[in-house]
Amino acid sequence: MRLILMGPPGAGKGTQARVIAAELGIPAISTGDLFRAHVAKQTPLGIEAERFMSLGEYVPDSVTNAMVRDRLDEGDARGGFLLDGYPRTLAQVEELDVLMTARGIALDAVILLIVDGDEIVERLLRRGATEGRTDDNERVIRRRLDVYAEETEPLLLNYSRRGLLTEVFGAGPPTEVTSRTFAALQRSGLMVPNPSRGQPRSGFEGAQPSSRSTT
Ligand code: ADP
Repeated sequence: MRLILMGPPGAGKGTQARVIAAELGIPAISTGDLFRAHVAKQTPLGIEAERFMSLGEYVPDSVTNAMVRDRLDEGDARGGFLLDGYPRTLAQVEELDVLMTARGIALDAVILLIVDGDEIVERLLRRGATEGRTDDNERVIRRRLDVYAEETEPLLLNYSRRGLLTEVFGAGPPTEVTSRTFAALQRSGLMVPNPSRGQPRSGFEGAQPSSRSTT
């Protein structure tokens, strides 16, 4: 399966990406994690990326696209993948389309985690205090949210027009968010129910196919 996980900074993409990808037996590919690994090793790419990340700006498309292209050509991504944090700009959407078409593969779904703005800032400030991510301070968080609204939200319309977008309510315990995501993938016919996995509570209105995806 080939999936994209989208949502604002702090929506819980990283946590969900790891669990969902493990269940589906595909790699979770996080551009944020790839960049942080380069920064930690101080590779030329890491040194370049760090300048943008520390300000809450996006790393230039040319750098990001080349990194993702290489990662998708690694053996473990041949049978499927879950992208976390990519694409984030329209140019990245185009690049991913070109890259996938050239390889004769297509996207199955784009999952959008929906979380309220105040909750996001709280979560990120908490993460900054506990995990020490240098971009989790209030000024940079605000910039990251603005950049998301300007650069990345427009992508949602693009994917919903293609019938790929599925919205999942991202508040509450991570395990519930995971159950809602699996329920959404089942509704789209991409996954079969697995009784051992646990299902969303009955009557819970968490995972709804996007109303936008029907237009
Ligand atoms: P967040 O969810 O807060 O955006 P990530 O770990 O996904 O955190 O990303 C951290 C930073 O890495 C971003 O603020 C940005 O600078 C850079 N980055 C990650 N993915 C991309 C991308 N697809 N395009 C450009 N920059 C990116």
